[in-house]
Amino acid sequence: MNAGTRNLEPLGLYIHIPFCSAICNYCNFNRGLFDALQKARYVQALLSEITRAGEAGKVSADTIYFGGGTPSLLEPAEVARIIDACREAFDVASGAEVTLEANPESVDEARLAAFRHAGVNRLSFGVQSFREEELRRLSRLHTVERATLAVTEARRAGFDNLSLDLMMWLPEQRLDQWLRSVDAAIALGPEHLSLYLLEVYPNAPLREDMARARWSQAPDDDAASMYMEAMERLDAAGLEQYEISNVAKPGRQSRHNLKYWTDGEWLGFGCGAHSTRDGVRTKNVSATEDYLACIAGGLTAALEIRRMSGDERLGDALFTGLRLAEGLNLEAIRERYGVDVWQRYGAELADHVDAGLVRREGNRLRLTRQGMLLAHEVMAVFV
Ligand code: SF4
Repeated sequence: MNAGTRNLEPLGLYIHIPFCSAICNYCNFNRGLFDALQKARYVQALLSEITRAGEAGKVSADTIYFGGGTPSLLEPAEVARIIDACREAFDVASGAEVTLEANPESVDEARLAAFRHAGVNRLSFGVQSFREEELRRLSRLHTVERATLAVTEARRAGFDNLSLDLMMWLPEQRLDQWLRSVDAAIALGPEHLSLYLLEVYPNAPLREDMARARWSQAPDDDAASMYMEAMERLDAAGLEQYEISNVAKPGRQSRHNLKYWTDGEWLGFGCGAHSTRDGVRTKNVSATEDYLACIAGGLTAALEIRRMSGDERLGDALFTGLRLAEGLNLEAIRERYGVDVWQRYGAELADHVDAGLVRREGNRLRLTRQGMLLAHEVMAVFV
């Protein structure tokens, strides 16, 4: 296979829901404040966009992912209509993974049971921290108790596939405090956890909050320890690292997100959503009202449509593949792109191998855990 060859793996379908009950002070996502009327128009627009995508012929898909924003602000009946539209427009596998991102304060057992009934079979809870003061510093709306209860409610509602998001390197957070959050997450027995390092963007209100309250982030070395020690605890708890920021019980990796990291293909619906298919990358218009206007006018919402060059596709495959704990499959890269990675980049990679950041094991090139902390330095080799 070469760079121009079509990928025959089933697609992932991403649905963007840009509404939130309040805007968190660190947030850099494409989202806005919830408005019931706008949401109703938005769901209608999503249904049209999905239906139109299916008009070119039914292709296979095996994951649906509702991301945001706060998708759990949709009514379960709206989620059901969107999933049904996906099933009409695509040949959605019977065992498809259907994920809904949910904020703990926006759910209760009845709502969760209704989401389950609508066809959602995986929940990803934005918990972020199991310490009250940290949640307040991030201006999150939920409490530790609500997050804990949400997990119990999800189990009672029949979900056997749960993921929790946690954030580390929070303002004023010390290593032992972070590890307490990690332990609290482990104690809830999720199938999957995502760990993110807080990034304080230049124009984030959190930056001002931090200056005003004189909150600071721990030194870089502590951030490194937060990552390493958390991963060790998660390993010991049977949550295996499969990507730089993600761990899962065996067989419970996010099948949808794996498409992003294994050179897969997906279609995105909604404002700001990206798609990658047949070597073409598209990005929908970001602003919600602009998106609604495009769809209402019978136009495509795709603002950017770009055919990727062979080198660009190779670069993406290398960047994303190296994020995986199992590393890059050098043989697959050679077959797909006709490039011997070691021959092309071996001289530059050798320094990183010597420094213990990268390992070559047979057909695989993978980052060590130390290398994962400095992934951007290693990946610079491919630029
Ligand atoms: S809930 Fe998530 S998407 Fe919404 S404002 Fe907070 S961080 Fe951003």
